[in-house]
Amino acid sequence: MNTIFGNWKMNHSLNEIQSFFSEIGQQLHSTKTKFGIAPQSIHIPILLKYKEQIPNLLIGAQNCHFEESGAFTGEVSPKNLKDLGVDFCLVGHSERREYFKEDHELLNKKVRALLKNEMTVVFCFGETLEQREAGNTATIVLEQLNRGLVDIPLKPEQIILAYEPVWAIGTGQTATPEQAQEVHALIRGWLSEKTNCANDFTILYGGSVKPNNIKDLVENKDINGGLVGGASLKASDFIALCTGAEN
Ligand code: PEP
Repeated sequence: MNTIFGNWKMNHSLNEIQSFFSEIGQQLHSTKTKFGIAPQSIHIPILLKYKEQIPNLLIGAQNCHFEESGAFTGEVSPKNLKDLGVDFCLVGHSERREYFKEDHELLNKKVRALLKNEMTVVFCFGETLEQREAGNTATIVLEQLNRGLVDIPLKPEQIILAYEPVWAIGTGQTATPEQAQEVHALIRGWLSEKTNCANDFTILYGGSVKPNNIKDLVENKDINGGLVGGASLKASDFIALCTGAEN
């Protein structure tokens, strides 16, 4: 089963959330795609209410702190995310790495905190355009995996990997299915060195995924779905993405 996770980033008002779900209605009830949405933290309780309408909707957080409580003004506790009923949390999104200077060591602590609190980690990584053009994609991706996930027990039901080339995020410039598959195969290879169940892991591609390119992406054997920013904000696109990812 393929997966579509929407990352709403810092978007959508209460009214827009309501319109989104009234347009979705019952249309995702029979989709064969696993799907979820990560809204802003303040909107998580609101999205959780829509599980009554859409029981198979998974709810994610976009970020959390690595400590469970304490004097960390403005931060979000992984323990309290779990308490609310959050299913998954993004870690290592390129916007967090770039704007908030999150490094491998910090990300590793967040992964540990989320696993301790029994949430699925969606671990994001990918190279910049400069790094790709210098021929360093594989080195960068492997470094991000090796350092961010150092000493983490890798279990397919707990860790989802999301390859998101930075140059493709929010730019409209999607990696070609061949470019994405090449890196996904590398990631699958890395998983088979670390585990004996590499094929059971979900590896998502992210970077300008749209209804018109999702099918070509998921046709590749190592691409198990998408982590989607812009196109996940519009209900009709979100439905089309879930339909397009069915296999
Ligand atoms: C993202 O934010 O993870 C992302 C892939 O964004 P977009 O789909 O807009 O490129």
